[in-house]
Amino acid sequence: MKENSLLAVIAAAGIGKRYGSDLPKQYAHINGQSVIEKAINPFINSKQVSKIIIVISRDDKEIKNQSFYDDKKIQYVYGGSTRKESINNALKVAESEFEYVITHDAARPNIKEEDINDLYKDITQSKASCSFFFTPVYDSIKEIDLNEKTKDKSKFYLVQTPQISKLDDLKDSIQKCIDDDIDCPDESFAIEYSNLKLSRIQGSRSNIKITEPEDLELLNKFLIRSGVGFDLHKYESGDGIILGGHKINCDFKIVAHSDGDVLLHSIADSILGASGLGDIGIFFSDQDEVNKNLDSSKIIEYCLNELIKLNLEIYNVDATIICEHPKINPHRDKILKKLSDLLKIPETSIGLKATTSEKIGIIGNNEAIAVQSIVNIKGKA
Ligand code: ZN
Repeated sequence: MKENSLLAVIAAAGIGKRYGSDLPKQYAHINGQSVIEKAINPFINSKQVSKIIIVISRDDKEIKNQSFYDDKKIQYVYGGSTRKESINNALKVAESEFEYVITHDAARPNIKEEDINDLYKDITQSKASCSFFFTPVYDSIKEIDLNEKTKDKSKFYLVQTPQISKLDDLKDSIQKCIDDDIDCPDESFAIEYSNLKLSRIQGSRSNIKITEPEDLELLNKFLIRSGVGFDLHKYESGDGIILGGHKINCDFKIVAHSDGDVLLHSIADSILGASGLGDIGIFFSDQDEVNKNLDSSKIIEYCLNELIKLNLEIYNVDATIICEHPKINPHRDKILKKLSDLLKIPETSIGLKATTSEKIGIIGNNEAIAVQSIVNIKGKA
């Protein structure tokens, strides 16, 4: 496939009435990104797509806040009151050098770059005027009429976007729908209405269209991000250590600028790692006097606030404490309870284990304690 040969048109002018919130559905967040950012990124990253026209509503106030807003590939046009008018507005400004145009919905965030290539391959091989993704119907279908008659589902399939069309054919077909005042649910319909050839390839059921709040919840379940953490601190003689906000009396204390809560430090690093924010050193420098003897629960509080800003939440945590002394098991329940309070997740979502270093190395010689952890986070529905 030739590079820079494709035009993409993204329909984002829908006002999201059915979504049940003030914010249009394409601006809802999944895992730190908006729905529209996720929908558009594959087109921005694609070497084949050289131009993207996004059709927005005239009163759209959110588009400027999107990460792609200033991307050089992108041009914005205002939509009309129907899909056919919106797509028509985009096609009017499309240069005729493009042979094909890919149309897609801003509310379908779960597509991949390969989908663009697959559509291109199919339309060139089939010599159709439009090629689109479909999925089979697995549920039974009844017609809404007086008799509620069940239909033969094998005779039906569901149509998705993205779809690819020959630019000239789509221009003429959309115009025909407008001239004839025919409702046009998608571009494949316009091509069909003009009696031009269609081709279809099986798509993925995960390419869902965000229509109801429940759809976002469903999508969030697919998208879990992980972050690992590790922290190690030196021991010296003392009267106890703090682990997960719980004080354990023993013959050591932890050498640290802060309160030395090695468990919370590791978990904080996992949270920041999973959310792509970096590590605790960036936010809580051990060179900064302000952080001297810092209560590490403040670090966790900070991390949780960052998650809220990104509309993310913790799915589960697993941590292993590695030390020779003190014995962790007698304190495990108390640490777990404290962690559950600090992280604001149920104890059943926290794994807490302890092991030793078999009396070898600095941990084995009671010179240090370490913690390894993993945190999984997901978007909040
Ligand atoms: Zn630390």
